[in-house]
Amino acid sequence: MNKTETKKCQNCKQQFTIEPDDFDFYNKIKVPPPTFCPECRMQRRMAFRNERTLYKRDCDLCNKVVISAYPKAAQFTIYCSECWWGDSWDPMKYGQGYNPTKPFLTQWKELQSKVPRPYVNNLTGATMVNSEYTNCAGELKNCYLVYGSMRDEDCAYSHYLNYSRHCFDNLYCIKGENCYDCLDIENCYGLQYSQSCVGCRDSTFLFDCRNCSDCIGCVGLRNKKYYILNKPYAKEEYFEKKDKLALHTRTGIKSFQEQYKNVYYSSPRKYYHGQMNKDFSGDYIANTENTHQSFYIKHARGCKFVFWCNNAEDVYDYMSWGDMELSYECVSNGYNSYHCLFTDASWSDNKDLEYCSLCFTSSNLFGCIGLRSKKHCILNKQYSEVEYKSLREKIIGEMKTYPYRDIRGIPYLYGEFPPIELSPFLYTDTVAQEHFPLTKEEIIKNGFRWEERKKRNYIVTIKAEELPETIDEIDDSILDAVIECVHKGECNDQCTEAFKIIVQELQFYRKMNIPLPQLCYNCRHSGRVAARNPLKLWHRQCQCAGEHSDNKVYTNTSKFHQPHELNEHCPNEFETTYALDRKEIIYCEKCYQQEVV
Ligand SMILES: [Zn+2]
Ligand SMILES: [Zn+2]
Ligand SMILES: [Zn+2]
Ligand SMILES: [Zn+2]
Ligand SMILES: [Zn+2]
Repeated sequence: MNKTETKKCQNCKQQFTIEPDDFDFYNKIKVPPPTFCPECRMQRRMAFRNERTLYKRDCDLCNKVVISAYPKAAQFTIYCSECWWGDSWDPMKYGQGYNPTKPFLTQWKELQSKVPRPYVNNLTGATMVNSEYTNCAGELKNCYLVYGSMRDEDCAYSHYLNYSRHCFDNLYCIKGENCYDCLDIENCYGLQYSQSCVGCRDSTFLFDCRNCSDCIGCVGLRNKKYYILNKPYAKEEYFEKKDKLALHTRTGIKSFQEQYKNVYYSSPRKYYHGQMNKDFSGDYIANTENTHQSFYIKHARGCKFVFWCNNAEDVYDYMSWGDMELSYECVSNGYNSYHCLFTDASWSDNKDLEYCSLCFTSSNLFGCIGLRSKKHCILNKQYSEVEYKSLREKIIGEMKTYPYRDIRGIPYLYGEFPPIELSPFLYTDTVAQEHFPLTKEEIIKNGFRWEERKKRNYIVTIKAEELPETIDEIDDSILDAVIECVHKGECNDQCTEAFKIIVQELQFYRKMNIPLPQLCYNCRHSGRVAARNPLKLWHRQCQCAGEHSDNKVYTNTSKFHQPHELNEHCPNEFETTYALDRKEIIYCEKCYQQEVV
């Protein structure tokens, strides 16, 4: 058995460790151990996924105007959905024989530059009704700027939204209705400005609440009604108080946020979000076994370094979506896929794919792009099963001795995901920019795809600061206005500088009595991403000091803290996404459960 090994990342030069379990996994799928650290590997995968930057351009086959993930100037042939999925072109026409005098990934890059790509990454055959401004999505109806989402209706400005209706401005919302500006919520109705809640209704500013309704500014409550700032009120009193808070005005929201902050930082919270896990580490993790360093993951076994996934077994280094088995270093894959390696944007009944892109319902493909229902192909060229097996072995052998080198000279041997410089997307358009933001200079120096953003030249008709306090003061003429974003393009949030209000949005704000936003969608989205913890773990001790929290801000209400006596500090340690210097009070599961009932 292998022992734990410390290695130096080729990319960032930091040290990282490979555990005995990891070696077992690499042996099982017959790949050498990685030469990049987990973080650099995550960045690399994320750079192959553009979720939310869209451009107007033409389909290169039928000339129809489409809303695409590729700018006009991208050096790729882009087809609309009908054309790409239609029969009027053949990806095998671009097939190349393998050339042993060039690194394999150089040949892959040549193939990539020739094969037409679909305009966005929406799900195969999933119906989309009146939802052209979307990406990485499926089965949407009347949705606008909705990404990484499935089965939603009448929603806009949202990310990772599933089975939801009338939801605006959310990040990760499952089965939501009438929710606004929330993140990481499930089964909620009429929830606003809230985070990490399940089964809550008609409430505002909640964190970590379950099955609560008519609550305002509360943290860690269970099955409560008519609470404000974690204090109970009689029904009439609650509504009187609520009216006084005037949370339909911008000033009301702002001044209440200050009071909410006090409750937010003085209530203990569990060191991770989730439940029903055995032998695990990560955050937003549920129903897993032997799954580590994984985030936003449900129903998984034997997984590690996974982000945003449902249903997986023996999967390492993966992002989005799920139903995957025995796979490694993939992004935007799944839907019943087995043994896929170093593959992006390929899903639905795939088996034994390596270094593939945009391949569907296929098996035994190596270095293929844009294939459907094919097997035994290499660089889009057909082989017999026997030929395929021996050529695959030969290429893998040569990738180990004659690797592709990126602009900085870093070698990519067999077992490494393709370098970021081979991503078809502009770095700033990808998920990588959200989690690993780079400046223009860094992007160019590293050889990643870069394009100067076109000057937008909006003629601003109203500054966000001039917008009225409440939605009642807004008439329909706002639909013609060009509102200047408060950030004025000076932030790092891909600010669009100005924005417009769409009809459904105005109706929603009126129905929910919400004032108009003052930031553009990109800035609003970045704010929600920043409100999440990083996808990173720190080793910490429980902050329960016996009768109160370490910082004495919170006094325990329960006298029976299982892991320790009342006059003792809790000895429990754990891995958490809360960094050591954070203000929040972090408890172990046992101490937390004693306090949150
Ligand atoms: Zn690294
Ligand atoms: Zn077309
Ligand atoms: Zn902005
Ligand atoms: Zn504890
Ligand atoms: Zn305790």
